[in-house]
Amino acid sequence: MSVSTTLPDWPPALTPEQHQHLILLSSTYALSHGFTLLPPQSANPPTSAISAPLTLLPTPFPRGLYELAVALQPLYNALYARITLDWEFLDRVMGGSVSKVDSFQGELWRGWKSIRNDLVQPLQLGLFRSDYLLHETQGEELSIKQVEFNTIAASFGALSQRASEMHRYLQKATDGFYSISPHLTKPSNIPQNEPLRNLASGLAQGWKAYGKDDAVILFVVQEGERNVFDQRWLEYELLESHGIQVIRHTFSELSSLATIDPSTKNLLLPSPLQPSSPPKEVSVVYYRAAYTPTDYPTSAEWTTRILLEQSKAIKCPSMALQLSGAKKIQQVLSEPGVLEDFLLGKDRPDVGFGVGAGSLTRADVDKLRSSWIGLYPMDDSSYGQKAYELAITEPERFVLKPQREGGGNNIYRENIPTFLKELEAEAREDGEPSKKEGYILMELIEPPKGLRNHLVKGGDNHSRNSDIVSELGVYGVSLFGGDVKQNITSTAGTLLRTKGRESDEGGVAIGISSIDSPLLI
Ligand code: ADP
Ligand code: MG
Ligand code: MG
Repeated sequence: MSVSTTLPDWPPALTPEQHQHLILLSSTYALSHGFTLLPPQSANPPTSAISAPLTLLPTPFPRGLYELAVALQPLYNALYARITLDWEFLDRVMGGSVSKVDSFQGELWRGWKSIRNDLVQPLQLGLFRSDYLLHETQGEELSIKQVEFNTIAASFGALSQRASEMHRYLQKATDGFYSISPHLTKPSNIPQNEPLRNLASGLAQGWKAYGKDDAVILFVVQEGERNVFDQRWLEYELLESHGIQVIRHTFSELSSLATIDPSTKNLLLPSPLQPSSPPKEVSVVYYRAAYTPTDYPTSAEWTTRILLEQSKAIKCPSMALQLSGAKKIQQVLSEPGVLEDFLLGKDRPDVGFGVGAGSLTRADVDKLRSSWIGLYPMDDSSYGQKAYELAITEPERFVLKPQREGGGNNIYRENIPTFLKELEAEAREDGEPSKKEGYILMELIEPPKGLRNHLVKGGDNHSRNSDIVSELGVYGVSLFGGDVKQNITSTAGTLLRTKGRESDEGGVAIGISSIDSPLLI
C-alpha cells in the first residue's frame, strides 16, 4: 500500500522564547518521569541520570501507513513463531554456509542443535520489534518498508511510552504547542502508545503460563548498560501491576549462580541477600543481553546460555527464536513462495492465529510482502552472483549487512565494493570459503526529504534543527509453541526514533537517534 499524503513543511517556526521554553519543559519532564539514560561513565550505584535524547516536537507520519504498520504486527508475530518451530528451515538457512562463515551464528546454531531434542519447555515468548522507514518512490508516493525484525532484546519500549506521554503533556501545557500548526493542536494526532504496559503484560503472560505464583522473572543484562531505566520500568510494572518479582543478573554472575534441579529442570537462583532462604524458581528468562559476540567473551557464557536453555523456564527468546531474527532469514523469506508457505501452508502450527482457510489469507501475504524492499543473498548461486555484480557496479543503491544486532555493523554504498573484494582476497589467501555468504545485500530505503525537527541530546540544553529520518518500530508479543489454548499474539505499541539524515545508522543507544512520537497526518 502506498499513499500520496504530502507531508507538511516541518517544523513550524518557533520563536526563540518558545524554543527555550520547550527545551525546559521537555528536559524537566524527562528527568522527573524517568525518560532517562545513565550518563557515560556513571558511578555504581548511579548518582545521576540524563534525559534520553528526544525531539522537541513530534514528527509527521502518514496516518494510513502508521495504521498499516500496526496492523501488520500480528501477521509478523505468527510468521516468526512459525519460522521458529520449523527446525528444517532453520537448519537449511542458518546451519548452512552462514554457520560456517559466521562464528557467532555458528555457535548459536550448533549450541541449539546439540540440545534441542531434550528441551523440556515447549512454550516460547517473543517480545518483538519490527522496524520500518518511510520510502518515497519517484511519483512521490509514500510507503513503509521494513528495515529489520528484532527477536531479541528489542529495547526502548518503556522510554517510547514516556516519549508519547511527554509529547502529549507538551501539547497540553502549551495550548497545542503554541498553536503554531493545526497539526499540533489535535490530541488524537499523537496516538496513545503503551509499549511499557504491553511488554510487561507479555512477560506476565509468560509467567502465568508457567503457572507458579512465587516464581520470579530473570532479566539477563549487560555489564555497564546505560539504558537501564528502560529495563527498570519493566521491572516496576511487573511488580506493581502483576505482583511479579524480577531478578537481574549479567551472564558472568549467572555462570556461578544459576543451577538446574536435575529432576524437575527448574531454573533456580539464590534468593538475593538471604542466604538462609530457599532458592527462587525462574518462570521466564528475559534477555537484554546475549545478542552480540561481545556478550560471550569466553566459552563460559555459552555454557550459561545452554544451561538456561535446558531449564524449564520460558525463554524470551529461545535460541531458535533468536536464530529466526537473523538478517539472513529476512532475505530468504523474500524468495518466491517462502512467505506463502509459512502463512498459508496447511500443516503450519497454530500459533494463536488458527490455521488453514480463513485464518490467514492471500491478502495478508500481499500486505506483508508489500512492506519489503529488495533483499539479496551473497552466496554462489546464480542469483547471488548477480547480486554481487550489482553490489560492485551500483553500490550507491545498497547497504550490506552482516548477521549482527545492536547497530554500527552495516557497510553502506561506496564502501561496499572494496569491502567485498577484501573478503574475497582474504578467502583466497587462507584457502577458506568466502565470508561474504554471512552478509545480505539490501536495497536502500529512500525516506522523504525535507522534514526537520529539533533534536535534544541528553544532558545538553540546546537543540539542533536537522534534516531528519525517522524509523518506526512496532512492538509485538507472541507466546507460542505449547498448548494452543496458551498461545497469544498481540500488537504492543510503537517507537519512533529520529536521526539526522547525514548519519546512516540510527541507534539511540549508540548516541545518534532521538526518541520521538509520530504526529499522524
Ligand atoms: P541493527 O540490527 O544493527 O539495528 P539494522 O538492520 O536495523 O541493524 O540497521 C541499522 C540502521 O541502518 C537502521 O536503523 C537504519 O537506520 C539503517 N538501515 C538499515 N537498512 C537500511 C536500508 N535498507 N535502507 C536505509 N537505511 C537502512
Ligand atoms: Mg536489530
Ligand atoms: Mg535496527
